[in-house]
Amino acid sequence: MAKLELRNLYKRYDNTGKKKKTVNAFAVNGLNLDCRDGEFIAMLGPSGCGKTTTLRMIAGLEKITDGEIFIGDTLVNNMHPKDRKIGLAFEDYALYPPLTVYDNIAFNLRAKGVDKAEIDRRVMEISRLLKVEELLNMMPVKLSGGQKQRVNIARAIVRRPELLLMDEPLSHLDGKMRQAMRTEIKRLHNEIKCTSVYVTHDQLEAMSLADRIAIMDLGVLQQFGTPMEVYDDPVNEFVAAFIGEPPMNILETTVIKIEDEFYFTFADSDLRILVPHRYYSKLSDGFKVKMGVRPMDLYVGKEDSKGVPERVAVFENLGDERRIGVRVGENLMMLITDDEKRYARGDVIKLEVNAEKTHLFDIQTGNRIRA
Ligand code: ATP
Repeated sequence: MAKLELRNLYKRYDNTGKKKKTVNAFAVNGLNLDCRDGEFIAMLGPSGCGKTTTLRMIAGLEKITDGEIFIGDTLVNNMHPKDRKIGLAFEDYALYPPLTVYDNIAFNLRAKGVDKAEIDRRVMEISRLLKVEELLNMMPVKLSGGQKQRVNIARAIVRRPELLLMDEPLSHLDGKMRQAMRTEIKRLHNEIKCTSVYVTHDQLEAMSLADRIAIMDLGVLQQFGTPMEVYDDPVNEFVAAFIGEPPMNILETTVIKIEDEFYFTFADSDLRILVPHRYYSKLSDGFKVKMGVRPMDLYVGKEDSKGVPERVAVFENLGDERRIGVRVGENLMMLITDDEKRYARGDVIKLEVNAEKTHLFDIQTGNRIRA
């Protein structure tokens, strides 16, 4: 195991004649990250945000434009990939079709000249851990997606890497299998405690697997924190909207003062939400700001509720939870309810808001305005 440190890491691709082009000047732009020994880090962000490029630079498969990468205390900038003591599991399983599962797992150990008995011991040990013992004599073509994925990961960790790098390793699996493999990866990490970097665009995967999540957009790190931190305490609108399903409702609002209280008001809507007192020192009458509130912090009030009457615009019954959308001006505001009732479009509900749970974001920069 080893810690991993990225210091001011930059990547600028030369786009000349390339099919794949970088939209921004830098695919990775001044990235600083430090992962502790044994930690499981997820790199999360939309397509093109620079996750894979970062991983490939750590692995030594992509030349870095500027910055430093340390694995343990060793600067690895100029070190050959095979000397970096890393294990790689990428989204395409890339198993060697003519080799059995056993030979696939053993391949790199043989190439390194490890003796036969030791190879056998290690292949068997890893196969038990990944539950692929029954597959060892099979050819890759006979394996299911989930089985291939297990073998792929077994092959990455059989060399006992100091650092395990995984790039969307579950992306080819269907929903159920993904969930099962997610649990397996978690279990595996608890057993081998190998420092791991896991690239994904799936926030659920990142939230359920990682000790800390690095959220990127356009090559820039937005926030690096535990799943709780990025969910409860997002630094900006991008993170707030990216984490959480359904996403946080974020609406433009004008704050108005009535008597001694401030309220969020919305264009073409009667909805008014009392602004939490902690924000009062930041506001004035007529102040324009974005307000964010998560769907689980909105409620359907009882009949005698003082909540604002709103018409149901969308109703989704997902079995164990129901989602209701109401129109607030031009926006749809979603709420989650465990209320058993089935609503129809046009029904009127009393919308209640847990105002204390609202977040504020600067209209121009998207940065969070803290109390
Ligand atoms: P995805 O999930 O779609 O793979 P990503 O977050 O992993 O996205 P990268 O693949 O790292 O993003 O790409 C970051 C940026 O660099 C994108 O704008 C991409 O088009 C660009 N890029 C990636 N590889 C190359 C390349 N070989 N040459 C030029 N530009 C590239």
